[in-house]
Amino acid sequence: MSRSILNGYTGSDPDRSELNPLFARPGEAHDLPKFRLPASEALPETAYQVVHDEAMLDGNARMNLATFVSTWMDDHAGRLYLEAADKNMIDKDEYPRTAEIEARCWTMLADLWHAPQPRRAIGTSTIGSSEACMLGGLALKRRWRNARRAAGKPADRPNLVMSSAVQVCWEKFCNYWDVEPRLVPISEDHKVLDGYRLEDYVDENTIGVVAIMGVTYTGMYEPVAKIAQALDAIQERTGLDVPIHVDAASGGMIAPFVQPDLEWDFRINRVASISTSGHKYGLVYPGIGWVVWREESALPEELIFEVSYLGGQMPTFALNFSRPGAQVLLQYYMFLRLGFDGYRRVQANSRDVARYLAGEIAQMGPFELWNDGSDIPVFAWRLRADHTDRWNLYDLSDRLRMKGWLVPAYPMPDNLADLTVQRIVVRNGLSRDLADALLEDMRAEVTYLDRLGGPLPHVEGRPAAFHH
Ligand SMILES: *Cc1c(COP(=O)(O)O)cnc(C)c1O
Repeated sequence: MSRSILNGYTGSDPDRSELNPLFARPGEAHDLPKFRLPASEALPETAYQVVHDEAMLDGNARMNLATFVSTWMDDHAGRLYLEAADKNMIDKDEYPRTAEIEARCWTMLADLWHAPQPRRAIGTSTIGSSEACMLGGLALKRRWRNARRAAGKPADRPNLVMSSAVQVCWEKFCNYWDVEPRLVPISEDHKVLDGYRLEDYVDENTIGVVAIMGVTYTGMYEPVAKIAQALDAIQERTGLDVPIHVDAASGGMIAPFVQPDLEWDFRINRVASISTSGHKYGLVYPGIGWVVWREESALPEELIFEVSYLGGQMPTFALNFSRPGAQVLLQYYMFLRLGFDGYRRVQANSRDVARYLAGEIAQMGPFELWNDGSDIPVFAWRLRADHTDRWNLYDLSDRLRMKGWLVPAYPMPDNLADLTVQRIVVRNGLSRDLADALLEDMRAEVTYLDRLGGPLPHVEGRPAAFHH
């Protein structure tokens, strides 16, 4: 397949990239090795074209309705990105303004999330929510360990309580840092972690509970206040004081604007830390996340390292040493560019498009909504059991892919694994016009599938490798 994408060359070597003679100058080799470092240089135009053409085959990011991550920023952001591409975030001494801007950004978030004293909170940028969650989890683990040791009790069997629908980064956290994951199964009656029977999962070895603001499978919020109440009741009965980390990868940049009265953040005393993805609804290109602790005491001091900064020292807490600094500047640009009101309007628009799409899809007939996009602008649906046995949501996903749309279908987690859903993530840039184009394609494909004379044959063992 991939061997003759350029110019109809045939009979070429699959281990080499061919060049179109129009791009290559006379005398240049007409192909480049794919798996070995080329022996000599190529002209920049030539190398550019080869990389450009291959990346083009990835498809159109704007039609990717599977991803939560920003696929569009304006031209000024593009300019800033180029100007700042050389900045290393860890070089706080060399780039003190970038370091300062990073601190302003997480302080703004601490304020947005109602930290009691935003200037006394502590936070950091990260490469994404995954790293931010790792740091939040590590702080929970270390706090628990310190308390256990201080009480002369064993600290060798930590566990973390969370929904079975957590994002994969939490399974990684538990695996990498030897913490037992205690997954509370979701069900038709308890579609999210809601505090129900939490006491069956929490014990003296529980380092914390993860609450998700915007479950990746469906976009639903977990009721942080209800989870906190359940933990209050547990504390009353047992004396265990279990903190909450809110994984607000998406919701951290939606709820403050679209559901300002919803209490999910530092307004709830039990919430020790909150993480978000700047590159999701923070509206920045990939490579930025944030984590904020309610106050300095929530982050054990021994996890903090000092790096030199203007001849002095600056505290850092991160898994990486070097990482790009440009995204931090882009986040600051977006904060200044949009302000509270601008974010509110952008996010409300995405929410409106999501609810519009959900409403139209519900009316098509074959589908039943799992949720309607009114939490984060993300929603999922299933095929009605009595609609057909000739096609399924994977088939619809394939048909839509033929038109360029990526609308993934996947199984729900563990004890709902028999249930297949399909999901749309509405991001800034999916306009009402594009939404209408998608609906038109969906209706046409449903009509096509419904007219099939018999069941579609299916390949055995479809990979269920979709990561949320
Ligand atoms: C996307 C997501 C993550 C992982 O975030 P990255 O920024 O992709 O590392 C974690 N938790 C939730 C709830 C998410 O939606």
